[in-house]
Amino acid sequence: MQDKWTRREILRLGFAGATGLALSRLALASPSQRRSDGKVKNIIFMVSDGMSAGVPSLTDEFGKLVRGKGSFWYQLLQSPEATLGFFDMASLNSLVTDSSSASSSWGSGSRIFNGAVNVLPDGTRLTPIAHIVKNAGKKVGLVTTTRITHATPAGFAAVQPNRDDEDEIAPQYKGIVDVLMGGGLRHYAPEQRKDKRNLIEEYQQAGYTYWNRREQVLSSERPEKVLGLFYGSHLPFTIDHIHSDTLKQSVPTLAEMTRKALEILSQSREGFLLQVEGGRVDHAAHANDAAAIFWDQLAFDDAIEVVYEFASKRDDTLVIITSDHGNSNPGLNGMGVEYGDSNKAFARLAQARCSFELLPSHLRGADADKVRAVIREQIGLEINGEEASALANALANRMPPIWNAQHRNLQGLLGEILSNYNGIGWTGTSHTADYVWVTALGTGREEFHGLVRNTDAFYKMLKLFGLSFKNPSMSPEEARKYLSRAPRVETPHWV
Ligand SMILES: [Zn+2]
Repeated sequence: MQDKWTRREILRLGFAGATGLALSRLALASPSQRRSDGKVKNIIFMVSDGMSAGVPSLTDEFGKLVRGKGSFWYQLLQSPEATLGFFDMASLNSLVTDSSSASSSWGSGSRIFNGAVNVLPDGTRLTPIAHIVKNAGKKVGLVTTTRITHATPAGFAAVQPNRDDEDEIAPQYKGIVDVLMGGGLRHYAPEQRKDKRNLIEEYQQAGYTYWNRREQVLSSERPEKVLGLFYGSHLPFTIDHIHSDTLKQSVPTLAEMTRKALEILSQSREGFLLQVEGGRVDHAAHANDAAAIFWDQLAFDDAIEVVYEFASKRDDTLVIITSDHGNSNPGLNGMGVEYGDSNKAFARLAQARCSFELLPSHLRGADADKVRAVIREQIGLEINGEEASALANALANRMPPIWNAQHRNLQGLLGEILSNYNGIGWTGTSHTADYVWVTALGTGREEFHGLVRNTDAFYKMLKLFGLSFKNPSMSPEEARKYLSRAPRVETPHWV
């Protein structure tokens, strides 16, 4: 096992040229430098939500196209200090998990029904990892690009029978989670909550500093407890963020929030657990919006680099980088003779200027000619007249015949049509059952090598922290009789 990479090895792999990384930054603590007891003080758990295997596979290339450097994760995977394995993320009622069940499986060690947060089908409430870790004197942080009350952060720290009850999740972090940063102001501000409670004030009374502007994240302040809410709902997609001066000024990036969270949490003598979520990769995948996926994956990649800078200097920190499920499984198809057109097609993704979330506002009432012009200006693609007519008809609620029912909507149709130009094909517009990538770095990384059941992550993290706790669980056979009581999630959860 190598401790440090030689300059020649790094150059051979193209690291230094591609990214300008200082050589010293490529070496994590070597096995001999690791703590002899095998325990860790800190765990940083990073989730790119809804990241199908095709996403990290193509992000390196996308990064080279849009900003002249590949992905940091790609480099990490070539280092002998990074492991690559897979999580089996199935839930208690489906091979295909949703985000709340997925995060709960890591956060409590038990598989539950989709739609619930740390609650078994019979109503048994599970103890989430944030409570256990906090009880042991450690600090806890949740950083996300979604609403902070959304499924993935909630799965580590909240208990709620239905994930849609985000007003109920919002107060649950108080006193448990020290650093909260993301979107979701609408579940804290009294005028937007159903019960009109002022949770911002309640958090402040409990010792939290309230932040709502990017400059506060960039300041030198390091309050002990932070409630940082930088948008009403989810933070904007990165592709929209980079094209808006207003958003760039007011809303921090995932990397910026992650850096600040590490500055604050690392002041803890007992260590910390931090979850970092790139939550909107999932939303872009639901929308079959390839450019939005890759831009948000790059933002997640920047956060990985920040975490690496922190962890590589230490021998007491485990970093886990993963996803909770696939989504619509974007993949670059072979295009043209001998697939010779695939690269050219993929490169067209770099021309997109806005997410599909903003596209409908440009397309309202558009006829075929207007549709063509909008796709040209906003997405950078020249679709043909027949495709433009199909989209115009779909906008007027006259959906053309589409045999994959998942694609029988505007975004699905758009995904199918644009795939003729950017080469990205989709299985549908929903989550998928694929095993997901997991990379681990630092002490304890070996635990996440190979195929790992999602629930094992909980017990592995506790073991590495030197803690022990067992939550109740339920077998799929036992759970069957509760199927009629499964949570009904009313809204598509990416809105
Ligand atoms: Zn998810």
